[in-house]
Amino acid sequence: MKKWTIRVTLTFAVLLMIAYALFQLSKSRTYQLFGELTNRVDTNEKVVALTLDDGPTEKTDEVLKVLKEADVKATFFVTGAELKQHPEEGKKIAQAGHELGNHSYSHTRMVLKSPSFIKDEIEKTDQLIRDTGYQKEILFRPPNGKKLVFLPYYLSQHNRKTIMWDIEPDSYEDIGSNSDKIVQHVKENVKSGSIILLHVMYKNREESLKSIKGVVESLREQGYTFRTVSELLTEKK
Ligand SMILES: [Zn+2]
Repeated sequence: MKKWTIRVTLTFAVLLMIAYALFQLSKSRTYQLFGELTNRVDTNEKVVALTLDDGPTEKTDEVLKVLKEADVKATFFVTGAELKQHPEEGKKIAQAGHELGNHSYSHTRMVLKSPSFIKDEIEKTDQLIRDTGYQKEILFRPPNGKKLVFLPYYLSQHNRKTIMWDIEPDSYEDIGSNSDKIVQHVKENVKSGSIILLHVMYKNREESLKSIKGVVESLREQGYTFRTVSELLTEKK
């Protein structure tokens, strides 16, 4: 090979490696460049948190009923856009004593976005959450778990906590399509301080919603109690 072809090939290989490393970093559940990132709380207590992503939607009543029957307080990471469409549903979540977290406004991947775009996504959603009457600290969960530079930087500058998860049964198609498999997956993977993620706000997620009862019962059988994410964070050893 000629010298310049070698140089071009090497440069290309290095760029590819950098791109791959940034991609891995952007979706890491345990590390980000700035600020605090929690995917599980380090504790000896048998406590876990149930987190529900996206929405609110017209399915909110049904979701709240399931949680009430299971006697569990969950943490809802809602999007600003959906909250704007369903303000009443947002209020119902707050009134039922669940935790509300910020899951961005438009649910776009927050990678390669400008600082002003990110600020807008977070602040607009915070305001809509406050409009529900929710008064406690608002935690943040990036849409699709994606973040790179400006998002973590903005959150760290504003002392905001980023919350990920360590158990995501319905992210695997073969598990998510069957509520019994979801329950089994949680049962097998749960640890003290685990943060469980389920998607229950859309029609194609019936199995996830159906699994809540079994998830709660089987974990209680193992001696676990449920906390909201904010409560779970106070259990850190
Ligand atoms: Zn989401």
